[in-house]
Parts: sequence; C-alpha cells; structure tokens
Amino acid sequence: MRALGSYVEGHWQAPSGEGSVVLDAATGEPVTAVSTEGIDMAGALDHARRSGAPLRELTFHQRAGILKELAAYLKAHREELYELSTRTGATLRDSKFDVDGGIGVLAAYASKAKRELPNDTIYVEGPVESLGRGGSFVGQHVLSPLRGVAVQINAFNFPTWGPLEKLAPAFIAGVPSLIKPASQTAYVTERLVRLIASSGLFPEGALALVSGPAGDLLDHLGPQDLVCFTGSAATAARLRVHPRVVASSVRFNAETDSLNLSILGPDVVAGSRELDLYVDGLVSEMTVKAGQKCTAIRRAFVPGALAEEVIGALVERLAAVRVGNPANPEVAMGPLASLAQRDEVRRAISRLSVAAKTVFGDPYHVEVIDGDDERGAFMSPVLLYADDPAGPELHDTEAFGPVSTVMAYSSPSQLPSLAALGGGSLAGSVVTSDPGFAKWVVRELAPWHGRLLVLDVDDAGESTGHGSPLPALVHGGPGRAGGGEELGGMRAVHHHMQRSGIQASPRVLSAVTGRWVPGAPRSEGMHPFRKSLAELRVGDTVVAGPRRITAEDIASFASLTGDTFYAHTDEEAAKANPLFGGIVAHGYLVVSYAAGMFVSPEPGPVLANYGLENLRFLTPVRPGDELTVTLTAKQITPREDAAYGEVRWDAVVVNQKGEPVATYDVLTLVAKHPAPLSA
Ligand code: NAP
Repeated sequence: MRALGSYVEGHWQAPSGEGSVVLDAATGEPVTAVSTEGIDMAGALDHARRSGAPLRELTFHQRAGILKELAAYLKAHREELYELSTRTGATLRDSKFDVDGGIGVLAAYASKAKRELPNDTIYVEGPVESLGRGGSFVGQHVLSPLRGVAVQINAFNFPTWGPLEKLAPAFIAGVPSLIKPASQTAYVTERLVRLIASSGLFPEGALALVSGPAGDLLDHLGPQDLVCFTGSAATAARLRVHPRVVASSVRFNAETDSLNLSILGPDVVAGSRELDLYVDGLVSEMTVKAGQKCTAIRRAFVPGALAEEVIGALVERLAAVRVGNPANPEVAMGPLASLAQRDEVRRAISRLSVAAKTVFGDPYHVEVIDGDDERGAFMSPVLLYADDPAGPELHDTEAFGPVSTVMAYSSPSQLPSLAALGGGSLAGSVVTSDPGFAKWVVRELAPWHGRLLVLDVDDAGESTGHGSPLPALVHGGPGRAGGGEELGGMRAVHHHMQRSGIQASPRVLSAVTGRWVPGAPRSEGMHPFRKSLAELRVGDTVVAGPRRITAEDIASFASLTGDTFYAHTDEEAAKANPLFGGIVAHGYLVVSYAAGMFVSPEPGPVLANYGLENLRFLTPVRPGDELTVTLTAKQITPREDAAYGEVRWDAVVVNQKGEPVATYDVLTLVAKHPAPLSA
C-alpha cells in the first residue's frame, strides 16, 4: 500500500518508508499508510520561510479575496471530502460539521478581514500616542506578519475543520502554513490539501503538508515560527517545552482536552421547554462525531430534584440512537476513530465508574447496524450518574467518546467549585431563563472557560449549540484546555503578527503607516473633494470658514429638527446648567455647519458620506461664536472589487479662539478614477 504523500517545497513528495497502515474505523480494512521517512523537515520549513514573500506582498483584502474563492472552490468539491470522511467513522452529519464548518471558517475570515482590516500589508493598531509635550514625538503600534511558518499540528477528530480554522487566520496575516494532521485521519487532510493545491489559488510557498509523524520537525523551528497545536494535554505538555520552542521563544498555542460542563439552572422546572433544551444539547454532544469533540459535554450538572427526570429523558433518547456503519443513512452514530481509541475510552469509563454508576449503555456491547464490532470501533453511548459530584475522577477523566456523566447538585453555590475542579475548559453551557442566575453563574464560571453558552427559549432557535466553536468567538480555554486562544475574529490574525511600537515624528510616522497623523504636514490646494483616489494623497486638506452661529440659527435648528432640549431653547434653564451657563448650539448643528463649510457641492469623485466615527463635542458653542473646520485626508483604502474606495477624513472644528469644539472622522466613498462610474 502506497503511503500518503507530503506537500513540501512546492511539490508532492512520496516518503521513502512504507509507513504504518491506517484502518477504516468501521470496517477495519486498510485505507492508507502514513510515513514521513525521507521527508526533509528542515527543508520544508526553510522553503516555506524563503518563499513567504509573495503572500506577504498581498494586502489583507487580496488575501481575503483568495480565501473567499477557496471557500467556494472547496464547497464545490466537498462531496469528495464527505465520502472520504466516512472511513474515519463520520456519518454525513459528522462530515458536514467538519467539512462545512471548515469552509464556513474560511468564508467568515474572508468577510471579517475585508471589514475589519485595511487594504494594506501592515495593520495599524490603536490611537497615535503622544510621547512629547510639543507634539513632535509620537508613537503608534503596528502589526506585521512574522517571517516564519505557522506549524499547525492537528488532532484526529476534525481532519478538515482543524486545518482550515488554523490556516484561515495565518493566511490572512500573511504567514505560510505547514499543516501536520494526526496520522489516524491524515488521508482526509491530504485530500483537502490536494484540493487547495489544485485550485491554483494560493501563492507559491503559502502552504505545506506533512502527512504523518512529525519526526524532527520541531528541531528546526526558528524565532519567527509559530506552533499552533491541537491534541491531548499530554502531548501539548511535551511539545511546549521542546528545546527549540523554549530557546527561540516560539509562540506556542495549545488547544487540548477539556472536561466541559453543562448546567441545568435551578429555576428550570419539570416538563419545561428548558429541560428539553438541556436534554437535546446533551444527546447531541454525546453522539455527534461519536462524542469525539474537544468541546463535548463531559460533566452535566443538574439540580438534585430534577436528576431522575433528566436521566429518564436522556435514557429514552439515547436508546433511540442507532449505531453502525456511518455510510448507512439509518445510522445516527458511527464508530470511534480506531480500535485503540475505543480501548482508551473504555479505560476512561472504568475510571469514571469509581465515582459514578452507569445508567445507560455498555461500553463492551452495542447492537451494530450494518457493521461488525470486532472489526469496527463501534460503541454504545454511555451515560453515567453520580449523586455525589465530589469524586475527583469525575473532573479529571476525559473519556473521548460518546460518554457523559450527570451529577446532582444540591445548591447553586456548589457550582463554582465544581466547575473549577475541571481545571479549565473550552466551553460551558447553562440552560436557564433567570437573568439573575445567568449573570451570577457567568461571572463565577467565565474565568474557567473560553466560551459560555447561555441557552433559553429566546436564543434556542438560532443557537449553534454547546459544542460548535465559531470563527467570531474565541476557541480555547485556560489550564487543562491548553491556555490558548484560536479563532476569535481578528485576534487569531494578530497572533500571527509582531506588534511593534514605532516612535517617530508625525511626518515620518505618517509615511510609515500611510495614515495622516496630527502634526504631519498638510497640503492645501485643489479642493480634495475634486480629487479621485488616483489623485488624492494622505494629508490633502481643506480649511473652511469662519461661519458665525447666531441665536436665530439655533432656534431654527431646534424647530426644524424638533430637538428642543432646554439647553438650546430655554435661556433660564440653560443658565442653571453647570456645564453651559446659557443657550448653546446643538452639537449636530455644529457638525452640519462644518459639512456646509467643507463640502464641494458639484458632482465629482466623492460619491457618498457613509458615517462619522469618534465624534466628540469638546467646547460648548454659543450664539456669536465663529467656527472654522479643517478636513484632512487621513486614510485612503481602495476596494479590491469596486470602482471606488473609502476615505477617512480627520475633521476638527475650532471656534474664534482656536479652541477645538468638535473632532471626528468623516467616512466617505470616493471614485478611484475621475469618471469611473460611467466608464
Ligand atoms: P494527540 O495524540 O495529542 O495528537 C495530536 C497531534 O499531535 C497529532 O497530530 C500527533 O501526530 C501530534 N504529535 C504527537 N506527538 C508529536 C510530536 N512529538 N511532535 C509533533 N507532533 C506530535 O491527540 P489526538 O489523539 O490526535 O487527539 C485527541 C485529543 O485532542 C483529545 O484529548 C481532545 O480533547 C483533544 N482535542 C482538542 C481540541 C481543541 O480544540 N482543544 C480539538 C480536538 C481534539 P500523530 O497523530 O502523527 O502522532
């Protein structure tokens, strides 16, 4: 049997060794072999580092465009991945979770990056910091892509989602990825990488794959590389102290195993919809992927008075779960990934049994549909119950299969310490309709969790469930869960970048970041609204005014808008106001007058004003004050897929004494070329 190829140094390479055979989880037949013998790990890393430039030269928006296309490409080819996943024991529902979930992460990162990152190659973070009194020395944080490789080590249970959720933020950041799947299911990831490579979408060097054992891969890590690990806590503990990781301060992010909990709130009553939601969640977490989910519920805490009812409902539901050949549409739950994995789960159940009794399922016997439990790793769901939740085994044993333990609590005050016994988890859920309990329990449990789902009848319809990590929210958890963070929107992108504090004069900082900063030169000349993006430069400015504000202006603005707040209309009352001491102009009048002053009204390249940001009213404006506005092009972001782009303008309105009365950013859409829309 030919061993899987690895994709390194820009081409597919076959290992020199025969490798170890990987068996089909359901039939026990050989699927493939894995080996990395003869694969030059140092060369693979070196090539990825050396050829990272084309990826880095793309802007965030261009990378996002590629990810979007890749998501569409993989979607069109996903049947191949579903089919192959069956051999890992996945039912179609499981495969969709893995494959569609992974494609969804690509699409989510593509659209978030377009919205939240500039069309540039560096990311400017936070405000300009003033470092000197005179304004000639300023600071700014910038994030730039690390020049190394993101070594992505994945667990066996999500051979598509796992690599894609790591690849998406690395790619957006501009860092090449080297994927190392778990040997057991590497054939699915290999097919995924073949699809990506054949799409032709990725720039050379952006992706590599090592199909099998890591060998000496980590021995060649350098100071600009990262390791993004998912797997068991034991492996993470070994790898995070690898001499190269330590010596080169390699960023090491770990997602490990976790004793996730779910709590049925003390407010929930027998026969309620909330109780059904709780049971639904638990059954789904036990059976999707045969419970081989890092986020699956292992510890289910229920009020003692409801324990019997909850267990009764769970037993009824679990009895209806049909276990067997994952390709058979009648089957709800496939086998575990391997016979070895099943042995491990059985051992874990024995340990749990010290503190809990089995109320459903026999780990050594299951009725199998269309399969043979000698050859396939089939196993019944196993539900345990502990009326005393204190047993340490209940909180430190991860049975990585269709196994969960219901535990009774007598008072909610026990929950924080019971949660803490898990030592840190990826995800927790609470079913309650009492906002007071929700507030208390979230405060108590959040420090131990990366994500908390609070479920009630209001969000149940749209909820993605306890076990689904989402691209927009952090995936990771403290302590036993690995202490890492993945996903979480742009946080994961930033993780692949170096944050540097740049100190410079405003002129130089503006040149470095491509953004105008206060104190940098301004250029007055042709009105900047007459310039297309091709002509407009950061720093282009218009100064307009002065315009006097009269008492009549304020009165008519109040009557026109209906904003007759006393500070604008009632002299007596306004005098008594400690901040105003008399009638003042509406802030929105100031902003409107400023627009009236700086606008260049004839049709031209400016297409629309789509908002204001950071608006602050700083000094009250009184009748008789004279306003002047300075508008300066601050940031220019051409859109990749449109004939226009965004221009952010710095706006400062001052009074006749030069005191700033309002500051804000004006956001406009401006044509790329003088007459693009008709072109
Ligand atoms: P594992 O045995 O720890 O393996 C995880 C990965 O580490 C595999 O790719 C494995 O490769 C690799 N690995 C092992 N030794 C290595 C070394 N010396 N150098 C480099 N890589 C090495 O875990 P698993 O059995 O695949 O996964 C199950 C566990 O993962 C469960 O405990 C589960 O809770 C956890 N998990 C956590 C998450 C999460 O997001 N937090 C997600 C899924 C799973 P080989 O397969 O080639 O040995």
